[in-house]
Amino acid sequence: MAFEFTERLKKLPPYLFVEIDKAKRRARAKGRDIIDLGIGDPDESTPKEIIESLYKAACDSKNHHYPLDQGNSVFRDRIARWYKERFNVILDQEKEILPLIGSKEGISHMPLAFINPGDISLVPDPCYPPYKSGTILAGGIPCIMPLTEENNFLPDLNKIKPQTLKKAKVIYINYPNNPTASVCEKTFFENIALFAKKYNLIVASDAAYSEIAFDGYRPDSFLKAEGGKETGIEFHSLSKTCNMTGWRIGFACGNEKIISGIAKVKSNIDSGVFNAIQMAGITALDIADKHLEKMNKVYQKRRDILVDGLNKLGWVIKKPKATFYVWARLPKEYKSSIEFAGLVLDKTNIIITPGIGFGESGEGYVRFALTVSEERIQEAVQRLERVL
Ligand SMILES: *Cc1c(COP(=O)(O)O)cnc(C)c1O
Repeated sequence: MAFEFTERLKKLPPYLFVEIDKAKRRARAKGRDIIDLGIGDPDESTPKEIIESLYKAACDSKNHHYPLDQGNSVFRDRIARWYKERFNVILDQEKEILPLIGSKEGISHMPLAFINPGDISLVPDPCYPPYKSGTILAGGIPCIMPLTEENNFLPDLNKIKPQTLKKAKVIYINYPNNPTASVCEKTFFENIALFAKKYNLIVASDAAYSEIAFDGYRPDSFLKAEGGKETGIEFHSLSKTCNMTGWRIGFACGNEKIISGIAKVKSNIDSGVFNAIQMAGITALDIADKHLEKMNKVYQKRRDILVDGLNKLGWVIKKPKATFYVWARLPKEYKSSIEFAGLVLDKTNIIITPGIGFGESGEGYVRFALTVSEERIQEAVQRLERVL
């Protein structure tokens, strides 16, 4: 049989992380003691209050049925309250909030509602891969906005070509940023909203790391910026906020028309988030602040050990204010991030992610994830010292 993949599937960029995963498994199978600083998946478990809340809700048979397309109203209500308390942004829970099966799901489905074949989406580069793949699966064309260190890893809007802007429908932004761990000022959000209004763009602001921040810094919401709700939506996730990556729960909120478009796509594809998980999501938002106070201290300490350690070895890295990543330029002798990550794995049994896996502008960098214990990070620094 000669089954053919569709053109859109063939156009998807290769998923580099699959290769890294294979190399990791090969090394583990040989009994090597691997320190995995590769994946962005919290190592600590989900807080027990959330698990208990799931159990209780799962025992209640009224939660056993298909969830509503627009999500559980009690959960939506709690999200609205969280937004008001956290960002001082008022949201209408009927029209401006949509629970998602993890924010990746919403990020990837959104282009099906707003990108026609041949339309362009503006994506930062390096970036979280679904901005590009979601666009391609909808028949659209991702156009990259390089994030450079000289520009504090913010896109330079002046460099986007007029003919690109003519066909652009969506602009993705992501602060605090994965993989660069950079943050933005409120004025950046305001400029994006102005730009979006001028060129009739949808702003998709990915705020997956809004709660993971250090040294007293608190990331802001795009929706709080002047023109924010008029031009865009924001994606949130409980994955990083409450160590819930496996649970698959997040939400989108903001502009009513954009939310309704995603909801329409979803109602034709999935049937929402298990109600018991949405109930557990309420508990997650209830305890988030208390949990994060502890968790952010843990990440901050790990960050300090890694960055101080690497800087002693001659790297020049600034301590990131948010996310659980450290984005580091390769030592001068190295050009290729894949080659360098391969060498580090071979010589030290440490997994790091080559920057090029996040897009061409990520070349020359590697990403370390702070998702292992202090002791293991210390151990990683010592191993690197022996090799570099
Ligand atoms: C982890 C992550 C997400 C979301 O993950 P979900 O588990 O699907 O909610 C979204 N954006 C970025 C940049 C991420 O790193």
